[in-house]
Amino acid sequence: DPLVSAWASDEDAAADQTVRPKRMSELIGQHRVREQLHLLLQSALRRGSPPDHILLSGPPGLGKTTMAMIVAAELGAGLRMTSGPAIERAGDLAAVLTSLQHGDVLFIDEIHRMARPAEELLYSAMEDFRVDVVVGKGPGATAIPLDVEPFTLVGATTRSGLLTGPMRDRFGFVGQLEFYEPEELEQIITRSARILDVPILEDGAVEIGRRSRGTPRIANRLLRRVRDYAEVRGNGVVDLKAARAALRVYDVDELGLDRLDRAVLAALLRHGGGPVGLSTLAVAVGEQPDTVEEVCEPFLLRSGLIARTPRGRVATASAWRHLGIPAPAGTVV
Ligand code: ATP
Repeated sequence: DPLVSAWASDEDAAADQTVRPKRMSELIGQHRVREQLHLLLQSALRRGSPPDHILLSGPPGLGKTTMAMIVAAELGAGLRMTSGPAIERAGDLAAVLTSLQHGDVLFIDEIHRMARPAEELLYSAMEDFRVDVVVGKGPGATAIPLDVEPFTLVGATTRSGLLTGPMRDRFGFVGQLEFYEPEELEQIITRSARILDVPILEDGAVEIGRRSRGTPRIANRLLRRVRDYAEVRGNGVVDLKAARAALRVYDVDELGLDRLDRAVLAALLRHGGGPVGLSTLAVAVGEQPDTVEEVCEPFLLRSGLIARTPRGRVATASAWRHLGIPAPAGTVV
């Protein structure tokens, strides 16, 4: 459970509740999606009918759940929350759908991981506000049509490429969430510190923001760890000194890389900068290939520290610079 993973830990889940923005006006960053959503919701409110179904897509920890909750709050609507993996059978979903009240928001996290029969049931609910529930098995099976109250589905996905075409087509609005700028993370950290009653100086917020991988969830988690350090070893104030010292203890470097990220880079450099295949790289750092591919690589790629080529991963000039070793001639910039 690395400190700089964008996926939520149990501790995050509890802490997220406290600092989660509750209204659109409290959201920081994501200007494009916010403006688009604002228009969608305001026009629905004027018409007095539920807005189109909404798909929120983007890497973990950027605020999809937060936005879904805000959609319900702005509409003054009820909210039901579930997730793709939690819906194992079509019947589970039918039960949720038929219990919705007029105008409710149904949030399905990780919607790309829903079982196929449930997904097919969802199509007709989204389109016609109707579901056919099959009762019985074999030749005696009958489909009983049931009405569903008009509702708005908010689907969230970290892998929009895995959504089926028919599913994607049924969303009237698709919002693509982007990584946050360091200044936006700084604002998020300052806001969270205020809510958590943690004294913070601007240089502390800047330093934590810089190391948060463009991700609010990581920013909030690093803030909590720096707060711990400041309370135990410092004067309780989250400032530059506390941030640097705390993040040294937790092995998060100036770019937000942790030990595993640096091990991946070091392994690449040991192979002359690459190209190195995923499995070789995984063996070199003693991890599963999936972990390297899903946990380390997205951020290393986004930071321009590695590049993917048909023959494997290569370290860029920035990677050599970051580890303080002169790059050989011909290194990818
Ligand atoms: P996952 O898909 O992994 O659940 P997510 O994209 O749904 O991630 P959230 O749970 O919505 O992420 O957000 C994580 C935390 O980041 C929240 O607790 C919230 O406090 C904070 N956060 C997210 N977006 C913003 C924002 N725009 N402004 C302020 N805080 C934010």
